[in-house]
Amino acid sequence: MNAPFPLDSAPAPLVDPYARPITYLRVSVTDRCDFRCVYCMAEDMHFLPKAELLTLEEMARLCGAFIRHGVRKLRLTGGEPLVRRNVMWLVRALGGQLGRGLDELTLTTNGSQLAKYAPELRDAGVRRINVSVDTLDPAKFAAITRWGRLEQVLAGIDAAKAAGLKVKINAVALKGVNDGEFDRLIAWCGEHGHDLTLIEVMPMGEIGGEAGAGDRVAQYLPLSMVRADLRKRWTLEETDYKTGGPARYWRVKETGGRLGFITPLTHNFCELCNRVRLTCTGTLYMCLGQEDSADLRTPLRASPDDAGLDAAIRAAIARKPKGHDFVIDRRHGTASVPRHMSVTGG
Ligand code: SAM
Repeated sequence: MNAPFPLDSAPAPLVDPYARPITYLRVSVTDRCDFRCVYCMAEDMHFLPKAELLTLEEMARLCGAFIRHGVRKLRLTGGEPLVRRNVMWLVRALGGQLGRGLDELTLTTNGSQLAKYAPELRDAGVRRINVSVDTLDPAKFAAITRWGRLEQVLAGIDAAKAAGLKVKINAVALKGVNDGEFDRLIAWCGEHGHDLTLIEVMPMGEIGGEAGAGDRVAQYLPLSMVRADLRKRWTLEETDYKTGGPARYWRVKETGGRLGFITPLTHNFCELCNRVRLTCTGTLYMCLGQEDSADLRTPLRASPDDAGLDAAIRAAIARKPKGHDFVIDRRHGTASVPRHMSVTGG
């Protein structure tokens, strides 16, 4: 397969109606996943027919168009990006754009396939990855992911570290599930040299159940409270560290590690949003927490030259909303955005 990256003259960078430069594209390369995390997917998910997916060459071409428009950071996500067949072809094709407009290529993964792919990822130019680990308790891990095995994920994380990849652990904060474990996660991340980010659960996608695992109200844990509690035992020093994403970081003095908080509900981060999200069918979402989207697959397939695609990208960015409207309360107990996180990848 050849990666289609035409060396046209660069169009003007993308700037949305609120004067925010759009420099970060997240790409969900598949909606499928080998886990079924209780807050992310229903157990009996229906996935897209393969015929609807963009090919990897089409994804590379779309990413190339965004890079020409000034996107400097790409994150591959999913579903689980490493279960897409032949995904390493895409990683290598995009890695070839590093230093040619692209500053960073990274991915978010559940870690299940990292033992197999870590050296190849590093070889293709990936330097940092996010791995989702909500708990270090094997039984709880199995319960949260439904299908995952903690041991396999930890082996994948070790492989990533050994391959020279910097690992950040992402943990979704779930009331009554992992809220007693943040001290352990902080200490473990400190020992292994991983940064840690805690994430508020977002009301996305129907996940089944009126109570317990399926109930957003029951799951929601405001991170402002978590941080106040952690401060009783850890010294959290403010930093101005930025990764281009929405997390705000503190330094944990006792471990030397960084601790980030992603707080779409207690403090939304929309004013600095620099991101848009592409699905594996070529639909562009201009906001994680809104339904408006743009079809890029039609202009992509309509012509081998990118004029129509470029126009569709610019028209989409011109509609990027000011912010999301996530709400979790008793009336909005389930999904305030009907799309599952696996469609747009977080
Ligand atoms: N499979 C990969 C993984 O596990 O990281 C990438 C896709 S996953 C959808 C990306 C991130 O979104 C994970 O860290 C996951 O925990 C998080 N996530 C999924 N559903 C969420 C929700 N409703 N609220 C907050 N985070 C969520």
